[in-house]
Amino acid sequence: MHSHNLPYDCIIIGAGPGGLQAAIHLARYNRRVLLLDRGGGRTRHASELENYLGHERISGRRLIDIGLAQVRHFGVSIKKTVVRKLGKSAGLFSVRCKPDVYTAPYVIASSGAGESLPQIKNLSRFFSKSFYTCVDCDGFRTTGKQLLLMGNSMHAVRLAFAMRQMYTKDVTLLACGYRVPDDVAQLLREDSITLRTGEPAELLGREYLNGVRLKDGTMIACQAVMASFGMRLHDSYLSGLELQRDQDGFKILVNADNESSLDGLYVLGALRQGHSQAIIAAGQGATAAIDINRRLLDL
Ligand SMILES: Cc1cc2nc3c(=O)[nH]c(=O)nc-3n(C[C@H](O)[C@H](O)[C@H](O)COP(=O)(O)OP(=O)(O)OC[C@H]3O[C@@H](n4cnc5c(N)ncnc54)[C@H](O)[C@@H]3O)c2cc1C
Repeated sequence: MHSHNLPYDCIIIGAGPGGLQAAIHLARYNRRVLLLDRGGGRTRHASELENYLGHERISGRRLIDIGLAQVRHFGVSIKKTVVRKLGKSAGLFSVRCKPDVYTAPYVIASSGAGESLPQIKNLSRFFSKSFYTCVDCDGFRTTGKQLLLMGNSMHAVRLAFAMRQMYTKDVTLLACGYRVPDDVAQLLREDSITLRTGEPAELLGREYLNGVRLKDGTMIACQAVMASFGMRLHDSYLSGLELQRDQDGFKILVNADNESSLDGLYVLGALRQGHSQAIIAAGQGATAAIDINRRLLDL
């Protein structure tokens, strides 16, 4: 294992919009910044963002590639690696990624989250094109479409009512391994939302989605899917650190500058509580960087 003795001012874990924006701000204070990223990530999977100021339409991949070029331009060190463990002792963080250990007084965790989705054939063909997982991101694209909402909790039921109110009158709810209470089923009927039960097996169609086949062989016709099966945080390297989380013990709580309950550890994007959108994560990154720089100046 190689220990890099000269500490950085700040180490950023994850090159999503939050981590990249923080890196740009810190580098423009001439700080020594190390950006560690394993590649991939949620933002790269977004085929098209239409709600990011300054871009009428941009793919997530392009947004991240532009951000990486900006970060390189300002001299940030970028390493492609997986962060395995974060520790802290004597006021200094140690960031472990085989075979290296890097140290800094400040760390920004912006490693995001991923969808928990059932195994569905042809998912990659339609993911982010007509199979969606985020209403704030892609709900608008379902406007006027024949929509299948699938999920495994009451959250999916609430989403079905919301989608009908905002985007389309043609909503079918597929409850997967979840029994919708009778009184709620009655409300769904009154709102003309068709209720089905079962497990999705395959998305049907070549260029355009035209339906979903269930494991029992039945088909449901649809032009768009909104899925709600929850998320997994990319936070295993934070295990062992006593961080305050929300009431479900899930998302990490932060203050107005995005600092967690552990002094010097800032948390952005999908890892922290609050709404997760690219432009929001970028704003959080800028805020965290400005705060870290003030502390480095001892102001
Ligand atoms: C299909 C889809 C469509 C979307 N559409 C929109 C949209 O239209 N508008 C919008 O605002 N938002 C959209 N989003 C959401 C948006 O991409 C994210 O919510 C937002 O950018 C915040 O992401 P993040 O920075 O938390 O994480 P990410 O963008 O996921 O970045 C995290 C980075 O950390 C890296 N990483 C993870 N673990 C480690 C580790 N242990 N070591 C090193 N690196 C690690 C990942 O590889 C990744 O590069 C969409 C998301 C998806 C999936």
